[in-house]
Amino acid sequence: MTARLVLLGPPGAGKGTQAIRLAESLGVPAISTGDIFRENIRNGTELGRQVQDITASGALVPDELTNELVRDRLAQADAAEGFLLDGYPRNVAQVGALDEILAAAGAGVDAAVELTVDPQVVVDRLTRRAAIEGRADDTEDVIRHRLDVYAEQTAPISQVYAARGLLVQVDGLGDVDEVTQRLLDALRVVRPA
Ligand code: AMP
Repeated sequence: MTARLVLLGPPGAGKGTQAIRLAESLGVPAISTGDIFRENIRNGTELGRQVQDITASGALVPDELTNELVRDRLAQADAAEGFLLDGYPRNVAQVGALDEILAAAGAGVDAAVELTVDPQVVVDRLTRRAAIEGRADDTEDVIRHRLDVYAEQTAPISQVYAARGLLVQVDGLGDVDEVTQRLLDALRVVRPA
């Protein structure tokens, strides 16, 4: 059975960690637009140069660039039978773009899984991650901006998927293994094996 999934949740909810674990369990690739941007910045590619300042400020990369990147990535063979998107779609327009990309292959999103966490927990986690990973967008001001961008542009996506009956919400608080198990259990309900 195919699994075309999107993972939603605020910055610091643990999406990246859970995306990798969940994707491995489901046998699909975890695709993180943030990771792809960071890799391009590290490698000094043209795309990297285009998005460097934007990502460092916590703003969103323009939809045209992001949608094209996702279109190309989803066209690769490993995503043919399913995928788990982490960090995309990030606004309602990107939801539409993803629909179009998938419709071209006669497919659609099977479920949107949202990791819910208390906002204060998110700020604490991001501040700790800043010390460990040294990400350019984990400074206090940028963290605040990223959370504002999330609230204004990304949070409304949940309603779009909820209206389609595709939204699954999972408590993101607690032990990493426990949260992974919760995600797998929740997905079993939407997509019976
Ligand atoms: P993330 O690792 O998902 O937190 O993404 C890091 C940064 O990459 C974000 O703050 C944005 O600047 C950019 N980014 C990642 N995904 C997207 C997206 N779907 N649309 C626009 N910008 C994105």
